[in-house]
Amino acid sequence: MKVGVLALQGDVSEHAQTLSDLGADPVEVRTPDALAAIDALILPGGESTTMSMLLESSGLFEPIASRLDDGMPAFGTCAGMILLAKDVLDGRADQRSFGVLDIAVRRNAFGRQVDSFESELDVDGLGTVHAVFIRAPYVERVGDGVEVLARVDDHPVLCREGRVFAAAFHPELSGDLRLHELFLREVS
Ligand code: GLN
Repeated sequence: MKVGVLALQGDVSEHAQTLSDLGADPVEVRTPDALAAIDALILPGGESTTMSMLLESSGLFEPIASRLDDGMPAFGTCAGMILLAKDVLDGRADQRSFGVLDIAVRRNAFGRQVDSFESELDVDGLGTVHAVFIRAPYVERVGDGVEVLARVDDHPVLCREGRVFAAAFHPELSGDLRLHELFLREVS
């Protein structure tokens, strides 16, 4: 399975490395041509407002939206979660999202950069996972079809709706392969 990593901005190489460690074949996606060659897409952490702008200027927004509507599996982390969400709270007025995950997510919900933190999460089906939160969002509303796999202080931070997964934290930064492994196993 060829797994793309949206490579416009953010922690692209860490996701690509994690995928390589799992024996998947990562492809950095910067153009519609690269998108056409992949079976699943990872949307990394970074800055969702910047990524939204770069998605427009690179001509990738519409092709990705259409692949997602056709059922392409996706895994968004942090800014990537925001890009997949149906509703974005505290977003910039012109920021766009793909709306394929029926959640409302609040940007920078845990506070500013100084409020970044690490925490042990209890993840459904996986057990304890060490999670790195950097200016992280959390989820304020989940739709009926959305499963919540982990929470911090009762706020959902790991969700799944069918073949779309999203984490408010950065599994690619903790050296733990299990979440990427779970995603690949569930969608391949
Ligand atoms: N706060 C960032 C945003 O709104 C996300 C931070 C991250 O991806 N680490 O896009």
